[in-house]
Amino acid sequence: MKVLIVDDTETNLELTSLYVNRAGHEVITAQDGEQGIEAFIAHQPDLVLLDVNMPNVDGYDCAKEIRSKCQEGNLWVPIIFLSAIITDEAIVRGIEAGGDDYLPKPVSQAVLQAKLKAMQRIALMRQELQDASERLRKLSSIDGLTQIYNRRHFDESLRKEMAQAERTGAPLSLLICDVDHFKAYNDHYGHVQGDEALKAVAVALDTISSRPHDIAARLGGEEFVLLLPATARQGAAKLAGELVQVIRDLDIPHAKSPSAKYLTVSVGAATYRPNHGHASPETVIGSADLALYEAKQTGRNQVKTHTEHHLSRKQ
Ligand code: GH3
Ligand code: MG
Ligand code: MG
Repeated sequence: MKVLIVDDTETNLELTSLYVNRAGHEVITAQDGEQGIEAFIAHQPDLVLLDVNMPNVDGYDCAKEIRSKCQEGNLWVPIIFLSAIITDEAIVRGIEAGGDDYLPKPVSQAVLQAKLKAMQRIALMRQELQDASERLRKLSSIDGLTQIYNRRHFDESLRKEMAQAERTGAPLSLLICDVDHFKAYNDHYGHVQGDEALKAVAVALDTISSRPHDIAARLGGEEFVLLLPATARQGAAKLAGELVQVIRDLDIPHAKSPSAKYLTVSVGAATYRPNHGHASPETVIGSADLALYEAKQTGRNQVKTHTEHHLSRKQ
C-alpha cells in the first residue's frame, strides 16, 4: 500500500515511517494538515495515518477535507488517527471527522502493523464489491443473445439524450428496425438459426452506429433501435438507408419471405427537434413506430421517416 503519514513532530514521523516501511508499504510524509491534504491529492495514497494535534489545519479538519475529496472521486481511503490524547470525546470526534480507527501514541509497532493489515483487508473487499457491482451494472444493460444494449439501457439513454438535446438545442434521431417476416423465418429455419440471424442484425446495427454516443439496442424479439444524438433528419434517413442495405448485403436466405429472397428489415425513423417544441420519450418512440408501421404496410425492406402528420395523428 501507499501510506500517507501526517505528523508535525519529526521524531514521530520517523518512527511511524519506519514501522510502516518494515511492514512492506511505501511511505509519503507530510508535516501538517495543509501539507497532508496536498500530499493526499498529489499521491492518492491507499491509507492515511493522521496526527490530531497539528498547527493551522489539525487532524480533524484534515480528515474532513480528505473525506470530501474521496467523495468527489468516489473512493474510500481508510484514515487512522494517532494521538496521545485518547479521551472518549477525542475518539468520537475523530470518527465523526471521517476517521476509521484511533490509536494511542506512542504507537506500538505490532498494533500499527495489525491495523494496517485489517484496513488493507477492508479496502480489498470494498474494491471487489465495487468491481462486482460494476460488472453487474454492465450485465444488466446488455442483451443476452446479441450482446448489444438492451431495452432497459436504451430507455435510460433516451431519457438522458433527450434532456441533453434540450440543453443544447441539437436534434436527436431514432431508428426502429424490425426484421421482416421473421416468424416465417423461424418456422422454416428453426429457432437456432433465427437466433443467429438476430445476432447478425445486431452486429450490423452496431457497425452502422459509428459515433461514440450512438446507441444500438435490442428492444425485444426481432426489434432493434438506433439512438442517434446530435443527428438531424437527413443524417438519420441516410443511416437508415445504409442499415437496410447492410442487412440486405448479409445475404441471409429467407425462402419464405413474400418481400425478398433474403432476410430484410424495415426501418422507421423519427427526429426530435427540441427547438420546435417539447416531446416526451414516448412520443418520439411512438412516431418512429408509426413510421415503421408505414414501412411494413407499404412493402417492407425499406425506410419510412415520420412526418408532422404522424405526430398529429398520434396526439
Ligand atoms: P413483420 O414483417 O410484420 O415484422 O412479421 P414478423 O413475422 O417478423 O413479425 P411477428 O411479430 O409476427 O413475429 C415475430 C417473430 O420473431 C416471432 C418469433 O418467432 C420471432 N422471435 C422473436 N424473438 C425471437 C428470438 O429471440 N429468437 C428467435 N429465434 N426468434 C424470435
Ligand atoms: Mg418482424
Ligand atoms: Mg416485431
